[in-house]
Amino acid sequence: MKAGLVYDPIYLEHDTGDHVENSRRLVEAMSHLKETGIREKLISLPARPASLEELKMVHAPEYISYVKNKAEKGGGWLDPDTVMSPKSYEAALCAAGGVLAAVLAVMKKEVDNAFALVRPPGHHATHDRAMGFCIFNNVAIAARFALSKFNLKRVLVADFDVHHGNGTQDAFYADPEVLYFSTHQFPHYPGTGWMDETGTGAGEGTTVNFPMTAGWGDEEYLRAFNEVLVPVARRFRPQIILVSAGFDAHWADQLAMMKVSITGFIQMTRILKELAAELCQGRLVFTLEGGYNLRVVAASIKATFDVLLGNSGIDDPLGKASLARKPEGFDEHIEAIKRIHRLS
Ligand SMILES: [Zn+2]
Repeated sequence: MKAGLVYDPIYLEHDTGDHVENSRRLVEAMSHLKETGIREKLISLPARPASLEELKMVHAPEYISYVKNKAEKGGGWLDPDTVMSPKSYEAALCAAGGVLAAVLAVMKKEVDNAFALVRPPGHHATHDRAMGFCIFNNVAIAARFALSKFNLKRVLVADFDVHHGNGTQDAFYADPEVLYFSTHQFPHYPGTGWMDETGTGAGEGTTVNFPMTAGWGDEEYLRAFNEVLVPVARRFRPQIILVSAGFDAHWADQLAMMKVSITGFIQMTRILKELAAELCQGRLVFTLEGGYNLRVVAASIKATFDVLLGNSGIDDPLGKASLARKPEGFDEHIEAIKRIHRLS
């Protein structure tokens, strides 16, 4: 398999100081890819800045100019969680454009699949607002790009970041051409993503939320994938699968309370890859969202590339979560979600 890697040093210049979402996440991930010998097996895909027209497929022109002006004035806080530096506008343009480069390479079959290691992340950013460390909604812009540039009719966005991708959900809530599937801790930031949020109008049914109770882990995530994502994807028949990959559902992540292991992420990634092979000629593009434990992020990114390359016997250096009493009620919970989406 030919797996593409999007990375650009500009991503390090989105300088957030000692913020939990900082450049060390990518520095450590890149050196881990190198040390483990994976880096040389990947095809480098150059990032480029997204154009204004591309950003406007998702964002308000006034909001884009606001971010640009703020960078020119030296940066500062865009919302209580989201800070920017003088280079953040440029980095954010290249984060969005990096995912577009990955989509282009996959669509043109230059690579079989790709992972864009970008920052700032994107899935919380809305039409006119930065939120939750996100400036522009990279994956939403990529979905719009796939639809318009390649005349696609059906894009699946799967989001396993531990937080709900409220910005992505908003962008496609009334849109039948993009199926948004998300697993996320609930209740948790940003507060959206209950199972009864299913889309509106022509987009009714193409938003599929799988809220997770704090303390659930691999077993519950895999059932959510196998019993909900797989059948809704088969019904929808996507022409490409985009993945908002956050590794903050890991048991060692400091921002959330889920119990997923790297082995769990590997299994979820395998399911996504098999779905892409079955439904859309293998077209699969990952983009980095959250994940704040540096060891977890580096090892998970490496493991994701192992899956994309088709490697077996992939290492999980952190192991499984220690056995704690697991919250009950999963069976009733998944049945309720299946009923809402007419899967049972
Ligand atoms: Zn997150």
